[in-house]
Amino acid sequence: MTQTGEAPATVESDASGHDCEYDVIVVGTGAAGSAAAIAAHDAGASVLLVEKCSEEEAGGNTRVSGGGWANLGDQETATRFLRAVCGDFPVAADVVDAWAREVVANSDWMRSLGADVAQCLQFHTKPEYEDHEGSECYLGMDAVGGALGNFGLHDFLRSALAERDIPVLWSSPASRLVTDGAGAVVGVRVAGPDGDRRYGARGGVVLATGGFQANAQMVRDYLRLTTTTLWGSPHSTGDGHKLAQAIGADLWHMDNMMTHRGLDVGGHGMFLSVYAADNYIFVNRDARRFRSETIAARHGHVIDGHGTELNPLHPALMVFDEQMRVAGPLGAGRDMLPVGWGLLMEGVTWSVDNSAEIESGVIRRADTIAELATLVGLDPEALEATVAGYNSACAAGRDDAFGRSPAKLAPIDEAPFYAIEVEPMLGWSNGGPRRDGRARVMNVWGSAIPGLYAAGELSSTYSWGKDGGFHIADALAFGRIAGREAADHARR
Ligand SMILES: Cc1cc2nc3c(=O)[nH]c(=O)nc-3n(C[C@H](O)[C@H](O)[C@H](O)COP(=O)(O)OP(=O)(O)OC[C@H]3O[C@@H](n4cnc5c(N)ncnc54)[C@H](O)[C@@H]3O)c2cc1C
Repeated sequence: MTQTGEAPATVESDASGHDCEYDVIVVGTGAAGSAAAIAAHDAGASVLLVEKCSEEEAGGNTRVSGGGWANLGDQETATRFLRAVCGDFPVAADVVDAWAREVVANSDWMRSLGADVAQCLQFHTKPEYEDHEGSECYLGMDAVGGALGNFGLHDFLRSALAERDIPVLWSSPASRLVTDGAGAVVGVRVAGPDGDRRYGARGGVVLATGGFQANAQMVRDYLRLTTTTLWGSPHSTGDGHKLAQAIGADLWHMDNMMTHRGLDVGGHGMFLSVYAADNYIFVNRDARRFRSETIAARHGHVIDGHGTELNPLHPALMVFDEQMRVAGPLGAGRDMLPVGWGLLMEGVTWSVDNSAEIESGVIRRADTIAELATLVGLDPEALEATVAGYNSACAAGRDDAFGRSPAKLAPIDEAPFYAIEVEPMLGWSNGGPRRDGRARVMNVWGSAIPGLYAAGELSSTYSWGKDGGFHIADALAFGRIAGREAADHARR
């Protein structure tokens, strides 16, 4: 596995001497890489998939995702919707057009591969950005079998690859791109179990290596987060970013990301469930509330008084009472939301009544608010004042300080009282090598690098906002575009 902080890949400039040659080489077996490989194969190309993880660990964020993709009604309205959610950070028109054209075709394409596609009725039945232009195109989120998570999309795509006999090199990280004398990508070097090999790609290489959220250095440099709890794959270390950068790729929207308030369970992120009751608040280290706790979370963004902002960006303490404790588990387990690396791959769990976490000290308990504050290192008087102020707002049915929805104002007034650290759990990064509407990676001067394509989270379309199911939709859409383009290039 490639380690965080590894030196950037160096560049080969001699096109001869491949160990083996294919029309198209795809790097990464997530949704984007699988879609690229299938599309290239179905366009008549010989394809090799290169994957850094073992078969048991491969598949990236796709493997542990919900696996749902946004089902958008028509191309023209989808174009307007994407432009609206990009807001002040527009992406190029050819990218928007290609995205809209392909995203609306995703469900039919999945059906054409034999998937049982149905709408997921549990989540994202309406748009998060309902107030944005074009949102009426959002028809919900489709998924294999209509069910989110539990490896559904990953397993289906893997069976589609197997059905086509597309070879996959497992445990074989791509370590550098091979270019010819003119700078065109003609192959890839792979550090596999049998040593260093060089594979030629007549039509080019598709990079689909996922995000950089598991690379602490890149997270610090680009996202300005110093600590992160990861929700998804620990193998998303930005390898493809380095491979592309090493041959002059430009980068786009590197500072965009998706965080969600989550729990750190044994080093893995778990979705924080606050749906069973409302007797809680979030406070900073100064023991004060800082925002409505129930503000609409739009995949790592909120719309506040001054527009759209990234949120959450820092840890907070969740303070709650016995009513909340008995209402249900704070950690969303497999029966609620079967996604995430910890839950699905490492078997981490959360107790139904939160008692195991109280016993282990993850949740701190005290008989009074002042004692609780002392236990967690907050100023007791400040926390008492905050809770009293919040409880008064509940009694009045109005939260003048932060505008929390009246329906969600439930007092923290039944002892014992509890506190737990909640994290800005990092789901994914969005930025990477800049690409055009044909999935061609652009160099810093604005020209396409011949033979290099990018798709998926490595280089997502999303410069700012995104709605439910947009990432899988983007990965499938640009994966197909990249695969077809590379296959076409091989024929020329
Ligand atoms: C918990 C969770 C739930 C989510 N749910 C949804 C959802 O329901 N809908 C939605 O739209 N989005 C969802 N997302 C986001 C979505 O899953 C991802 O954005 C998307 O799956 C990314 O697909 P990808 O193919 O680009 O990358 P990945 O799925 O991350 O795949 C990248 C692959 O590249 C491999 N790789 C990396 N480096 C190398 C290298 N050097 N050589 C060879 N191989 C390499 C990795 O091992 C991996 O197999 C979710 C994310 C998380 C974490």
